[in-house]
Amino acid sequence: MYIACPKCDWRPDASSRWICTCKHRWNTFETHGVCPACGKVWKETACPACHAWSDHEDWYHDDDDISVDEYIANPSKIAQPERLPVET
Ligand SMILES: [Zn+2]
Ligand SMILES: [Zn+2]
Repeated sequence: MYIACPKCDWRPDASSRWICTCKHRWNTFETHGVCPACGKVWKETACPACHAWSDHEDWYHDDDDISVDEYIANPSKIAQPERLPVET
């Protein structure tokens, strides 16, 4: 699973911050869209890169659900099978 803007594919990191109407700054993906200061639930999340608002749930993407088109565009998205440890 990874988190990315549904509109432009911008990826937040641990230092990304959003500002609540109560002026509190926090990483909204650490609390699933809930302001830890005032408890306001943000059903939509604004993207700092493209400024579009998207449903908070739409930011969560499942790596396992790769489509054929995505695979052709970027084969490295597929996780390599783990090698079995070699016995010595
Ligand atoms: Zn707040
Ligand atoms: Zn965006």
